[in-house]
Amino acid sequence: MTVRLRIAPSPTGDPHVGTAYIALFNLAFARKQGGKFILRIEDTDRVRSSPESERMIFESLRWLGLLWDEGPDVGGPLGPYRQSERRDLYARHAAELLASGAAYRCFCSAERLDTMRKAQEAAKLQSRYDGKCRTLARAEAEARVAAGEPAVIRLRIPEEGVTSFVDMIRGEIRIENRTIDDQVLMKTDGFPTYHLANVVDDHLMGITHVVRAEEWITSTPKHVLLYAAFGWKAPEFAHMPLLRNSDRTKISKRKNPTSLKWYEAQGYLPEAMLNFLALQGFSVAPSEGAKGFATEVFPFSRVVETIDFARICTTGPVFDLIKLGELNAHYLRALAPEELERRLAPFVKPGTDPAAMHALVPLVKDRLKRLGEWEELTDFFFQESLEYDAKLLVPKKVEPAAARDGLGRFVAAYRALPAPTAEALDQAGRALAQELGWKVGDLFMILRVAVTGKTATPPLCETMVALGRDRVLPRLEAALARFATL
Ligand code: GLU
Repeated sequence: MTVRLRIAPSPTGDPHVGTAYIALFNLAFARKQGGKFILRIEDTDRVRSSPESERMIFESLRWLGLLWDEGPDVGGPLGPYRQSERRDLYARHAAELLASGAAYRCFCSAERLDTMRKAQEAAKLQSRYDGKCRTLARAEAEARVAAGEPAVIRLRIPEEGVTSFVDMIRGEIRIENRTIDDQVLMKTDGFPTYHLANVVDDHLMGITHVVRAEEWITSTPKHVLLYAAFGWKAPEFAHMPLLRNSDRTKISKRKNPTSLKWYEAQGYLPEAMLNFLALQGFSVAPSEGAKGFATEVFPFSRVVETIDFARICTTGPVFDLIKLGELNAHYLRALAPEELERRLAPFVKPGTDPAAMHALVPLVKDRLKRLGEWEELTDFFFQESLEYDAKLLVPKKVEPAAARDGLGRFVAAYRALPAPTAEALDQAGRALAQELGWKVGDLFMILRVAVTGKTATPPLCETMVALGRDRVLPRLEAALARFATL
């Protein structure tokens, strides 16, 4: 049997990190088993779905390299892969359930349902449909529909007994049928609900394993009952642990950026993002000799090799941006300079001199946590004149006049250097600091501020070399002049 897995996002709003997280595990399992990975768009919510959102989902999954074998844009043998294009299928299947008695028409008005819900809430009862239309004769129900009365179609959940399924991560899950609501399958507007469309599609698309987020666990018994009502074999299920904010609540926009577009725009690398998402519930067996952080760094191919749903940890770690930053920095450092330049390209101001970029990349490589930090780390390089607080030119415990004198002496030493290489500059600086009886760091801080306008920069001497004499000297002179303002 060829396994077939799918991701079934609803195209509402920005592409969500949770979609990538679930796609990753589906794809890894499909690849491991030599099966197929399908992308299906669940756009039955006509109000909230948008083509723009669908486009962004495609873009973000492609950015991450989570590529699908079948989908609305790439086609495939079991399409269409967009639910809005499959409405007749749902209508046909709903009719089948009505005919067999597994489902029934419900004419209850929104007002009646609302009043019922409020009464149940007041009585602290679980809110659910009271079954008023369950016993309507079929002929009567059909006549009312034919006469134009609006109705939904509900699934007839058995009043007694238990529905159970085996979750590949969590083991057997059993739910008392009396606690399951008679789920609406078709709305009055003729659109299916998630439950009907999802089950019909998973079946017709030959899905063998449904791997989705924990939040759908309570829907699964309804789905299991639906499969049974159709006489179909249900797929295997796995419900992945939720992504969590640092306070362990379900990930939310308010506490954590959730849009994949945000992560891309910030300059997180797709491979770091994938690694990070994989860690939210999974750990791969460490490779030989790996310790600590190294055990957490692994490529997607390693997830493919080692994926095993029984090993998913349901108390997954939190979505910790600090950890993501560390991982990202690690992946950035591992890139070859040319590759880093290529990745940086979208983050660099248009018109930037490629030679300058080439000179700067090796300097900032070890400091970048995100590609988006490029601008902040290197803007000094391209500015005509630097803006900074002149007080930064005076180290603690040093008098302004002494600081000025120290800087002046460095300028003289710099001018005297036949070849201002990084080593030569470093040596000259150290020798001068010793003569002055200063800490080396104090002198270098004055130079750093003078040359870059900042207190934290790429390595100072290399930066001066990259800037070149023609820019370093005027900056040092300008700094000397700033002392007059102190
Ligand atoms: N459309 C659902 C979602 O947006 C799919 C859930 C499932 O995988 O069954 O998450």
